[in-house]
Amino acid sequence: MECSTYTSSQPNLVWGENIDVEISGVGRNITEELRDVSGGKKERRMQRLVRKREVNEAGRLMSTARNESFKRAVSLYRAGAHLSSAMTTVSPTSIIHLFKLSPPNGRPRAQTRVRCSIAEGPTISPSSVDGRGTVDCVVVGGGISGLCIAQALATKHRDTVPNVIVTEARDQVGGNITTVERDGYLWEEGPNSFQPSDSILTMAVDSGLKDELVLGDPDAPRFVLWKGKLRPVPAKPTDLPFFDLMSFGGKLRAGFGALGIRPPPPGHEESVEEFVRRNLGDEVFERLIEPFCSGVYAGDPSKLSMKAAFGRVWKLEQIGGSIIGGTVKTIQERNNAPKPPRDPRLPKPKGQTVGSFRKGLSMLPDAISKRLGSNVKLSWKLTSISKLDNQEYKLTYETPEGLASVQTKSVVMTIPSYTASNLFRPLSDVAAGALSQFFYPPVAAVTVSYPTEAFRAECLIDGELKGFGQLHPRSQGLETLGTIYSSSLFPNRAPPGRVLLLNYIGGATNPGIKFKTHSELVEAVDRDLRKVLIDPRAKEPLALGVRIWPQAIPQFLVGHLDILDTAKSALRDIGFRGMFLGGNYVSGVALGRCVEGAYEVAAEVSDFLSQQAYK
Ligand SMILES: Cc1cc2nc3c(=O)[nH]c(=O)nc-3n(C[C@H](O)[C@H](O)[C@H](O)COP(=O)(O)OP(=O)(O)OC[C@H]3O[C@@H](n4cnc5c(N)ncnc54)[C@H](O)[C@@H]3O)c2cc1C
Repeated sequence: MECSTYTSSQPNLVWGENIDVEISGVGRNITEELRDVSGGKKERRMQRLVRKREVNEAGRLMSTARNESFKRAVSLYRAGAHLSSAMTTVSPTSIIHLFKLSPPNGRPRAQTRVRCSIAEGPTISPSSVDGRGTVDCVVVGGGISGLCIAQALATKHRDTVPNVIVTEARDQVGGNITTVERDGYLWEEGPNSFQPSDSILTMAVDSGLKDELVLGDPDAPRFVLWKGKLRPVPAKPTDLPFFDLMSFGGKLRAGFGALGIRPPPPGHEESVEEFVRRNLGDEVFERLIEPFCSGVYAGDPSKLSMKAAFGRVWKLEQIGGSIIGGTVKTIQERNNAPKPPRDPRLPKPKGQTVGSFRKGLSMLPDAISKRLGSNVKLSWKLTSISKLDNQEYKLTYETPEGLASVQTKSVVMTIPSYTASNLFRPLSDVAAGALSQFFYPPVAAVTVSYPTEAFRAECLIDGELKGFGQLHPRSQGLETLGTIYSSSLFPNRAPPGRVLLLNYIGGATNPGIKFKTHSELVEAVDRDLRKVLIDPRAKEPLALGVRIWPQAIPQFLVGHLDILDTAKSALRDIGFRGMFLGGNYVSGVALGRCVEGAYEVAAEVSDFLSQQAYK
């Protein structure tokens, strides 16, 4: 695989990362070339079309062009059906040839640096993808969303969608899920655990992982740092009167607000901060919800949308007039509706807990991938999408064997929205523009270990660190967002006598962390831990892993759902039925929501293909 930056008067080879810049750059210069060699009406029309990116139409006009170079361009356009495909299916020589067309008046043109990625090696035709022609569905992205969609299609919709492949740009599946095992430690560098909802448990059981499931102790406390002290968060309603994280007045305000004695909703989409302060008061916001937003989204609650980020709670007020009214109504509706029997294969988690697997979260994507076998294509990076005349899609990939194209009846895009935006740019400016608006702040996962004796005595129970972990409200002066007590939460995460801590730092309110070195991040985390958990005289920690996610978690900001609707309807407007958007910026960021979203998208794909079958 070779990628190049082409300089029109002097070709040289450099890697260019941003495919959108590459394509628009190349587009402009092809237009330039056309202007140079053409004089006729047809060519001028062609230039306009290329400029407007109506490349298929330009290709049709070119097919009658006189000039040999134009004929070459026609075949390029045809090969890719649109400009981006064309650029990924040409050889270096042909690009150079195209750009060397008749310099104006024989003078060397001013240097124009154009980035383009050029793959060498054979192009794999659709029929050579495991000997299959058109597939029913291609799932783009092998993170938890993509794999669960493929698994849901395989387990629940096999009749309508039998032929599915998952394509993943990296050489391993899992996306954000990254488990590392070394020197007797096992740690996570992305997500650390999940809420064991029935969807995710079904996925785990269907993947053969029932016996590998590990669940945290539901009685283990979660802490919030407030005024220098780690204070437990209430785990159940009966804890409410006794916990010391909030004052009596704060609890009273929250209780009245939850019953509906509070200002009515305003006429605009509320941020999480606005909704919670209005409904439950300042203390609930500052001491519980603000740190919780850091824990889930690494987000800024003054910008996150209550409706988009915490839709289920938002809905309670809508349906019941207050949070408690909505809860009562939801319970009544649930009790009145006949409930399908629970899958007897599923384990029954007790209380408020979180889950993982014996060898970490990666066990789930790995198990699904193993079941899907050769239907998972690793190191397949999608570089362009085009719609064919028969309404199917042609996806073009860079692969270790060269370029590959796959023809498919439907596509589910589970890649991050900013990558999807680049891929849709040549097809719909509106869809691309909408998808480029979602913000993914950076987060670093810093994993360190201390001996048990390094912990402050007041933080240990029976000589051990117990609990899920701790969250730090931004007002409390610590840079670290929160710390997971990994070795207390799940078994076999650290050697005896050692404690493993996973710390998250950065997020929407601290994007500067992506410029810090690994040792600066470890120092920042260690400094914070010594203020609350670790004896200040303890030796330096063992720094096991630092992973910086430059674009970590999509923020469901005010306006998120409208922007998503704009992207979806723009795709419908260009006739892209059968093209589905999935992944965490659509379903919700928690792993459980990604899995629920996967079942929903799989059902939509199945409906779409059943309807097609009857046409
Ligand atoms: C640091 C961190 C901590 C988190 N902690 C938790 C937690 O404790 N609990 C929880 O529930 N959630 C947590 N989350 C959120 C959760 O991990 C994610 O929302 C979820 O993993 C997203 O999965 P996904 O499949 O939608 O996307 P991704 O995991 O982003 O997968 C997308 C995949 O698409 C691939 N791809 C990209 N471009 C292309 C292309 N052109 N062609 C082919 N493939 C491509 C990528 O390589 C990637 O594998 C955390 C996230 C982060 C980053």
